[in-house]
Amino acid sequence: MSELREEFEACFGGLAAIGRDPAGGWTRLAWTDEDRAARAWFESEATARGLTVERDAAGNLWAWWAGSGASDGEDRVVAVGSHLDTVRGGGAYDGALGVVSGLVAVGELIGRGVEPARPVAVVAFADEEGGRFGVPTFGSRVLAGVLDPADLLERADQDGVTVAEALAAAGIDPGGFGPDPARVGRLAALVELHVEQGRGLVDLGQPVALGTGIWPHGRWRLTLAGEANHAGTTRLADRRDPMLGLAAAVLAARAAATELEAVATVGRVLVEPNSANSVPARVSAWLDARAERDQTLDWLVTAFQAAVEEAAGRNGLTVELTPESRSPGVELDRDLTARLDACLRATGLEPPALPTAAGHDAGALAAAVPAAMLFVRNPTGASHTPAETAALDDCLAGVRALVAVIEDLACR
Ligand SMILES: [Zn+2]
Repeated sequence: MSELREEFEACFGGLAAIGRDPAGGWTRLAWTDEDRAARAWFESEATARGLTVERDAAGNLWAWWAGSGASDGEDRVVAVGSHLDTVRGGGAYDGALGVVSGLVAVGELIGRGVEPARPVAVVAFADEEGGRFGVPTFGSRVLAGVLDPADLLERADQDGVTVAEALAAAGIDPGGFGPDPARVGRLAALVELHVEQGRGLVDLGQPVALGTGIWPHGRWRLTLAGEANHAGTTRLADRRDPMLGLAAAVLAARAAATELEAVATVGRVLVEPNSANSVPARVSAWLDARAERDQTLDWLVTAFQAAVEEAAGRNGLTVELTPESRSPGVELDRDLTARLDACLRATGLEPPALPTAAGHDAGALAAAVPAAMLFVRNPTGASHTPAETAALDDCLAGVRALVAVIEDLACR
C-alpha cells in the first residue's frame, strides 16, 4: 500500500514541478516550453513503466500497454487519461490528476503481473483548457472530427502566434493535423478521472464520484456603445455611458442565474478608451453561462438580453449580443457508468453520481465513444486557481478505483 503512495507522490511531484508560475499556481499553456516539458515528462514516465508512446494526428499523446495506435490490429481499446495543460495560474490537479492516476494505475497492474486481454492506453489530450487560443477541448475535438483544423490554424494567441506556428514550433506538421476516425472507432471505453471542480463530494462525505453528464454551456460577447466624453465637464444628463449598461448586465446575469438555478459569469471586460478621466465610448464583455438543461440556458440568455436592452435604452446606448460558442449538454455513457459503479462498489467505495458544469475531453468524445468520468474530492471546491487541491488519501482512492476499472474492462 505504501508503495502505491510513494509511486503516486513521485509521479505527481514530477509533473507538478513543471510550469510553476512566478505569479502563483501553474501555467502550462498548449505548445509552449512548459507544455513541451510536460509532454517529455509524460513520455519518460510512460516509458519507465514499459509503455510505448506515440502522438496522434491531433497532437494527443497515447501511452500503450499492449498494442498501439489506430493502424495496429482490430482489438478494441480501453483508454484512461486527461490533459497536461493548465489555465494561466491554475491548480496542480486539473488534468494532471487524471494523467498521473492513469500512469500509476497501469504501472500498478503491470507490477502485480496482470496481463491485459485488450490494449490499454493512457492518453494525454492536447490543449484541453484553450488557455492560449481560446478553443477548449482542442485535441479531443480535432481527434473526433468535431472541429475542423482548417478553421483553427490561423487563430492567434495574444502575442500574435498562430496555431499553425505554435504546432510547427512544437515539431508537429500543421498540414497533417486533423481527425483520426480509425483510432476513435477502436475505443471501447474512455474513462477520465478528474479532480472535482466543486464541493459535491465534500458535502456528501465521499472521496470518489461517478460523473453523470456535463451541463450545456456557452459564451456570448456583449458590446455596449455610447459616447466618449470628459469625466469632469460632461453633465450627467448628457452622458451616454456604456459602463452603466455593463453594471446592469452583470447584475442581470447574476439575477437570471439565481432565478434559474444556473451559473453565469462576466469574467472578461474590455473598456475603450480605458482612461480614468473619460466617460468610456465602448465596453465589451463576455458572458459565460451554464445550466442543467439547454432550455434553461436559453431562458437565462433571453432574460439577460432583455435586461441589457432595457438598460441600454435608459442610457442611450446601442447593444449587441453575439454568441461565440455553445456546447450542448453531454450525457456520459450509462452502461459504462453502471459497470464502473459496480466495479467501485466491489472495492468498498460508495460513489455518488454527480453532474458537472465544467467541460472535459470525455464529454467532447462522448458522442463518438462510450465515455465515463470519475471525480476525486476537492476540499476547497476551487479550480482554475492554486487553491485547487485534493488529499493524498483521496487521490489514492482514485488510483485504486482506476486500477479496478482497468482490470475489469481490459484484463479479463
Ligand atoms: Zn481539466
